[in-house]
Amino acid sequence: PSPNKEQEEGSAQKENFSEPLFENFYKAQSLSGTLSSYAALQEQVGLCDVNDHRLIYKALSDTVQSRRARSLWSLLTPLTEREEYRNGTICTEQKILIIGAGPCGLRTAIECSLLGAKVIVVEMREDFTRNNVLHLWPFVIKDLKRLGAKILYPKFCLGNINHISIRRLQLILLKICLCLGVEVHHNVALEDVVEPPEDQSDGGTGWRAKFDPVDHSLATFEFDVVIGADGRRNTLKGFEKKKAGRALAIAIIFNFVNYNTSQEVKVQEIGGCFYHMKQDFFKEMKSTLGIDLENIVYYKDETHYFVVTAKKSCLLTKGVLKEDKPTTAELLSPPNVDHDKMKSFAMEVAVFSTKLPKFDFEVNHRNRPDVAMFDFTSVYQACHSALIREKNGHKLLACMVGDGLYQPFWPQGTGCGRGFISAFNAAWMIRDWALGEKDPLTILAERETLYLMLPMTPMNLSQAVDSYTIDPKTRYKNYRSRVTVTRKEVERLYNPGEQD
Ligand code: FAD
Repeated sequence: PSPNKEQEEGSAQKENFSEPLFENFYKAQSLSGTLSSYAALQEQVGLCDVNDHRLIYKALSDTVQSRRARSLWSLLTPLTEREEYRNGTICTEQKILIIGAGPCGLRTAIECSLLGAKVIVVEMREDFTRNNVLHLWPFVIKDLKRLGAKILYPKFCLGNINHISIRRLQLILLKICLCLGVEVHHNVALEDVVEPPEDQSDGGTGWRAKFDPVDHSLATFEFDVVIGADGRRNTLKGFEKKKAGRALAIAIIFNFVNYNTSQEVKVQEIGGCFYHMKQDFFKEMKSTLGIDLENIVYYKDETHYFVVTAKKSCLLTKGVLKEDKPTTAELLSPPNVDHDKMKSFAMEVAVFSTKLPKFDFEVNHRNRPDVAMFDFTSVYQACHSALIREKNGHKLLACMVGDGLYQPFWPQGTGCGRGFISAFNAAWMIRDWALGEKDPLTILAERETLYLMLPMTPMNLSQAVDSYTIDPKTRYKNYRSRVTVTRKEVERLYNPGEQD
């Protein structure tokens, strides 16, 4: 055959073999399964030889042409062409390390990749195991649909109440990230960011990170942007937290297996019901079971998912809490919680609320019944959202997104809503940073202004959710008139700790 014919046959073969591999990738149900099926696809499509991360999406979408793949490309391709990304040419010099593959870390990775940056996400966990179900705000649903969530998971937001398990949401976002050329590593935890060495005579090295395991290949990866998306853990240094106190609030979360029987299908969900909204229900539960709740959420998703806020007195009477203690930390400390009683408590609430005769507990990542107690009494937020460091000739932009920036109050579903907004704001700042048209203090001042607006979200968001982009003007009402933080006020965020 002529060389041209050989080439044509070669690419036809690539296509034929890549389609079942894309199907495996589409069907993968775990983090490791997704990564390994993507690696197989990558090899088949010849992506391993693509040195430029920006060409990955093009190579993949040109080669894999199954019906399902084409539906996904039909959504992703117009996104890559959107004006704010200028065909992925803005951040071509940026190397970005994202700590944590939670929903907000992955959502940030997508935006950074669309801007053209080289993006690496590290996730300390082996797998995505969180069964808990999230209620999503309308703009988040729209955003996820625009990214192809419905193609990757056709059951996405089918019920009356719009929700999805954290695990499923992470899987969807992970698959989109990989298609767009983001590199994701699991079983690797960031321990610290390492400054560039003083001796730069041999060209030196830039900002790097120390990981666990210490000999991980990423230890030599140099980056100029680092994003803390590690939820409550907050590994990134320089982001002190402040506490927003509220009245004692004890949440119990439990998941049961959903067998999808006809009886289960008929049960009505309960979307964020507070005491004052349905007093009869709460009073009856108290008189029948002695269980006194402040609110309840019940979603029928891949599991039967419940989250309730219970009064301390009834948890003591039911023996879930063994003894009253002077501080919340002592009260809710593991030795003071009786797990068997907590399971019985959960079962009683579930049976009473659904009228189903019984449930089987779903298991958590430790293979134990999925019941947990959380303290909502104190919610933390970072004192600021970004900072810039400069050391031995290398600059580093560090920022926070998601729960690590601003812990949510779940019953209001603020987690992903505010978390995605913080992801967009971080991406906008990185875009400004790469464009180099604004000086660093102006970029920090604009970012901190947006951070000040986060607690007011969603009240300050525009109704035109279809037009949301990373550009704050498209999302906030009257954004321009609200830039309130001054350059002087953010001077402390440029090389913090070094000015004094
Ligand atoms: P996380 O989801 O916490 O992800 C952080 C990731 O970082 C994790 O995967 C973790 O393993 C990883 N990590 C941590 N440290 C490191 C490290 N050093 N190196 C590498 N990786 C690291 N939100 C809603 O919007 N609506 C709801 O109804 C709702 N209900 C909730 C109910 C429950 C029970 C819970 C627990 C949360 C709920 N939330 C809800 C909150 C929502 O889950 C979070 O807002 C969302 O998961 C935030 O994502 P994130 O990416 O910021 O952080």
